[in-house]
Order: sequence, then C-alpha cells, then structure tokens
Amino acid sequence: MEKRKLVFATNNKHKLEEIRAILGSEMDILSLDDIHCHEDIPETADTLEGNAQIKAQFVYDHYHLDCFADDTGLEVEVLNGAPGVFSARYAGGEGHDSEANMKKLLSEMQDKTNRKARFRTVIAFIEQGEIHLFEGIVKGCITEGKHGDSGFGYDPVFRPEGFSETFAEMGNEAKNKISHRANAVKKLCEYLSK
Ligand code: IMP
Repeated sequence: MEKRKLVFATNNKHKLEEIRAILGSEMDILSLDDIHCHEDIPETADTLEGNAQIKAQFVYDHYHLDCFADDTGLEVEVLNGAPGVFSARYAGGEGHDSEANMKKLLSEMQDKTNRKARFRTVIAFIEQGEIHLFEGIVKGCITEGKHGDSGFGYDPVFRPEGFSETFAEMGNEAKNKISHRANAVKKLCEYLSK
C-alpha cells in the first residue's frame, strides 16, 4: 500500500531528519524542495500560531496537499514573553544571527534575578482544509553566560528545568528527547496515529 504523503513546510534538514525518524516508516514526509515550492513564504503574523498557520495554509492552498508547519519562540518571563515570535530577528537585521541574538538577550538580562524562560513550539497541521494546532513547551532559565557549543540558536544560554547543563552542553540526542519541538511533534504523531 502506498504511504500517506504529508508536506512539512520547511527545508531545515535537522527538523526533517527529526520528524522522518519518528514518522518515516508510516508516512512519506515531503519538504518544500520536494514539492518544488521555492517561494519565500512571508511570516507576517505576530504570534507563533499565526506564522505556523500562514506557512501550512500557503502550501495547502497552492499545492492541495495536507501540510504541517512549525514556529518556535523563546519566551522570557521578565521580558514579558520577548523575544517570542521575534526570536530569529531579536538583534535586528536579516535575522538568524544567533551570536548577536544571545548577546542582546544576555545584556537585557544583566541585572535580572528572575531568569525563568520557556521555549514554545506551535505546529499547525492542515488536513483536508481543516486546521489543527499542537503546542510543545519546555521550561527552564536563562544562564548568566554562554555554555556549550552543540545545537543552535539560543541553546548555549538556555538551561531546561531539572537539568544542570544548557541545551548546548547536553548535546542533540539528549535535547531532542525533551525539547519543545519534540513535545509538539509527539502530539502531532499521536493525532496522526489515531
Ligand atoms: P524556528 O521557528 O524554528 O525557525 O525558530 C525561530 C528562532 O527561534 C530560531 O531562529 C532560533 O533563534 C530560535 N530557536 C528555535 N528552536 C530553537 C532551539 O531548539 N534551540 C535554540 N533556539 C531555538
């Protein structure tokens, strides 16, 4: 029997590997490249839910395939949830400059004693035109400086609750078991396997 085809609206190899490892035996997970979608889908919403939905809806509307998309933000309590949906572009510019983003965050947090933060991932899944949202959260705190060199983004400055190492110190294998994205993906998989 042919496998069910689902588009994951990303070209991020790490994310694709992660999800194919979980779902690949039962489903054919296609990337944006696989469906020849080379458009730069604008992420213009001011919430994670909104941006995830824009990406999934774009693919569904243009390619008529069931599709899911994710969006993630780091939410710091004492900064009222910032950088949140602007995590990639926190230090300005084109975005995705992790060193500049962490530098800005550590400077904003310099005199703060409340260092509570959480990573939050939202997955929007559009199935036959109907939207389903899945959320994954990991709580933790912002460290005083950078520690470790694995992972990406804010990993060197985020220590998950119940652990003595930052995400960048624990390594990808341990991180991927407890991460915000893993939690959201688990919920999507539970839904898909029903
Ligand atoms: P995206 O929605 O997955 O592209 O994530 C947006 C931004 O959040 C990224 O550019 C990173 O700065 C940050 N981010 C997302 N996931 C992680 C993570 O697992 N560790 C550290 N930073 C992350």
